Amino acid sequence: MNVSARRAPVPLRPGLSEQSGYHSPQVEVEVRLNTNESPLGPPDSWRAQLAAAVADMAFHRYPDRRAWALRRALAAVHGVHPEEVFCANGSNEVLQCLLLAYGGPQRQVAVFEPTYALHRHIAELTGTGVVGAWRTPQFALDLPAVDALLAEADPVITFLCSPNNPTGMAEPPDVVQHVLEGAPGLVVVDEAYGQFSAWGAMDLRRSGASGLERLVVVRTFSKTWAMAACRLGYLVAEPEVVRACELTALPYHLDALTQAAGVLALRHEDDMRERLSLIVEERQRLAGALASLAVESWPSQANFILFRPTQRSAVEVWKDLLDQSVLVRDCSTWPGLPGCLRVTVGTPEENSRFLEALRNSLGDER
Ligand code: PMP
Repeated sequence: MNVSARRAPVPLRPGLSEQSGYHSPQVEVEVRLNTNESPLGPPDSWRAQLAAAVADMAFHRYPDRRAWALRRALAAVHGVHPEEVFCANGSNEVLQCLLLAYGGPQRQVAVFEPTYALHRHIAELTGTGVVGAWRTPQFALDLPAVDALLAEADPVITFLCSPNNPTGMAEPPDVVQHVLEGAPGLVVVDEAYGQFSAWGAMDLRRSGASGLERLVVVRTFSKTWAMAACRLGYLVAEPEVVRACELTALPYHLDALTQAAGVLALRHEDDMRERLSLIVEERQRLAGALASLAVESWPSQANFILFRPTQRSAVEVWKDLLDQSVLVRDCSTWPGLPGCLRVTVGTPEENSRFLEALRNSLGDER
C-alpha cells in the first residue's frame, strides 16, 4: 500500500479520546505491593480439584450462560436466592454491566472522591454523566455534602466503596443506611475489600432495613479468595437488577473454567479465612510501624494502607522503594490525594522488606 495515500485515522467516538485508560505499572520487582492482590495463592487442594475439573470439562460446548452452579453456591454463602446473584469477569465487569443497564446519556451517577477510579472511568466509558462530592479531610463521607448532591443531581446510581480504595476506611452501617434512605436510585456498595472489614453492607440485607430493594453489593474473588488471575466478581441485589445486568452482559461471557474455579473456591472457605487473619494481623503490624515513622497514615479495614511521607515527596519515596525492588502505588496525582502512597499488605517477609526500604528512604536509623 502506498503510505502517502493513507487516509486520516477514523476518529474515536466523542468523549473517548479524552480518556487515558486505567493503568497500574507492572514492573518486575521482588516485592510487589501495588495492586492489592492476595500475597498468597489459593490452596493446593483447590488447584488439584480445578485440574480434575478441567480434565473433564466439555470444552467444545458453551458454558452455562447463567452460571447457575456458581450462583447457587454464592447464594448459599450469603443466605440469598440464586436469582439475587449475578456473576461476571471480575467486579469491574459487574460494574460495567450495571452502568450499561442503568447509565447512559442524560443519566448521572454519584461518586465521593477520593475513591476507586473505575467507578468514574467505567461510567464515562458508558456515556454516563458523573457528579462528585469530596470526602472530609480524614476521608469519611461528608453527609451534608452527600445529601446536597443526591438532592440536586438525582443520580441513577450512588457509588459507595467500603472499605474505600485507596483510603481504607469502611462505611459504618448507619452511614450506608443514611445514603440508602436519601438516594433516589440504586446504591452500589463496592465491597471488593469487604471481608477484611468487621462489617459489610451484605449484612444489611439480612437486617430488613428500609430501602434494601435499591441496595446492590458488589464483591470479588480477586482479593480474599486469592484468584485475581481468574477474573471473577459478583453482585447481590434484587432479581430485577440481576435481570438488567444479564441484558447487558455478552452471551456466555463467563467461561466454564472461571465458573468451576469459583464453585471450588467456595469449598475452601477455611483456607480463605486463614489468609484473611494473617493479612489483618500484618495490617496491624504495618499500621503500628508506620505510626512511628515520618509519615501520616490512615486507619484501614482493607488489605492496604494509605500513607503520606511528611518530610520527602511521594515520588522520591516511591522511587527509593523501587530502587530497593519494592513496588507500592503512587497515588499522589489522584484527585484529593497529594503526596500519598498506598501499600498493599503482603506476606510478613514482604512487609518487613517494605518497612526496611521505607526506613532507608526516610533516613530513619532504626
Ligand atoms: N472495586 C474495587 C474497590 C477495587 O479496588 C478493585 C480492584 N482494584 C475492583 C473493584 C476490581 O476488582 P476485580 O475486577 O479484580 O474483581
